[in-house]
Amino acid sequence: MTKKDYYETLGVKKDATPEEIKKAYRKLALKYHPDRNSSDGDTEKKFKEINEAYQVLSDPEKRARYDQFGSAEGMGGFDFQGRGFSDFGDFGDFSDIFDSFFGTRTRRSEGRARPQRGANLRYNLEISFEDAAFGKETRIEIPSWETCTVCKGSGAKPGTSPQTCPDCHGTGEIKSTQSTMFGQFVNVRTCPRCSGEGKIIKDVCTNCGGTGKVKKNKIVRVKIPAGVDTGHRLRMSGMGEPGEKGGPSGDLYIVLYIKPHKIFKRNGINISCTHAISFIKAALGGTTIVPTLEGKAKLKIPAGTQSNSVFRLRGKGIFKIGTQHRGDQYVKIIVEIPKKMTDKQKNLLLEYAKLSGENLENLGEKGIFAKIKDVFGQNDN
Ligand SMILES: [Zn+2]
Ligand SMILES: [Zn+2]
Repeated sequence: MTKKDYYETLGVKKDATPEEIKKAYRKLALKYHPDRNSSDGDTEKKFKEINEAYQVLSDPEKRARYDQFGSAEGMGGFDFQGRGFSDFGDFGDFSDIFDSFFGTRTRRSEGRARPQRGANLRYNLEISFEDAAFGKETRIEIPSWETCTVCKGSGAKPGTSPQTCPDCHGTGEIKSTQSTMFGQFVNVRTCPRCSGEGKIIKDVCTNCGGTGKVKKNKIVRVKIPAGVDTGHRLRMSGMGEPGEKGGPSGDLYIVLYIKPHKIFKRNGINISCTHAISFIKAALGGTTIVPTLEGKAKLKIPAGTQSNSVFRLRGKGIFKIGTQHRGDQYVKIIVEIPKKMTDKQKNLLLEYAKLSGENLENLGEKGIFAKIKDVFGQNDN
């Protein structure tokens, strides 16, 4: 590490008084302040060095330690690399200190007629569950701007033209000189009258309100890839608001919202649904027709299927974006118990119960019992 001579940095003698140090610092800080210099690395570096030197030499305690050890490196435990100091490394923070010294800063105008990028546009697009699964090409209408045909973009009423701003004489900047105890300062700020344009429009074009642009809606084709989900953003470069002064346009962000489906729930690339089958089919097995995203499909039900059993239809789910890989469909079976039966059906079930060794006395309502006795001739009970 190179040794730093803070006295040399500030151009003062070793026995300089605090007043002399302060004075030297002000002079140098002004000279090298980034606001007054184009951002070149050397100037910034110099500015930092000056501040670093001043931080030490302006503090009697730090200065004494520095004098004792001769260099920053010699001062063990000194808070140089610590937070307190490194915070000053940033000019933004430092400017506060600068302000407190000089009361005012020399500000650079943002510059007039600087190209500005247009704002991004956000468009919320709701699409169906199926469109999210398989993708879709659709059209949306977005706001768009065209050069005003009445004023041809000038913003001034036809027959008139923008005039040079009388406040800034076309420069877009207002300069004011201020005398302070540290010398004269020139403040530069953006002209408030013309907002830095350098020109003002006296007779505003009534067609565009002086903006030179007219809003017109535009149809945009949107390609939604298969597999998108809620919150997915499609970015369409350069489809946002137009830039200012020849700056590039912003982007259009289409944010997708997927409508819920009446039958299916989605979990990533898989979908699920519930499907009811009769208790007869659950017991005997067979096939059932289940809905899928692409119509109906046959599902085999093994004999003895219990309620809440889940079956998988491979590859009937949703595409993984940008791939041919597809998720699965899960079908949860609900075994339906009939709510109403004819007497004949009931009797057949009772017969089944009898064959299964079920205690008939614990079945059905009293009314049914009489009939049971009829059917089975069990009069002794
Ligand atoms: Zn116009
Ligand atoms: Zn002006």
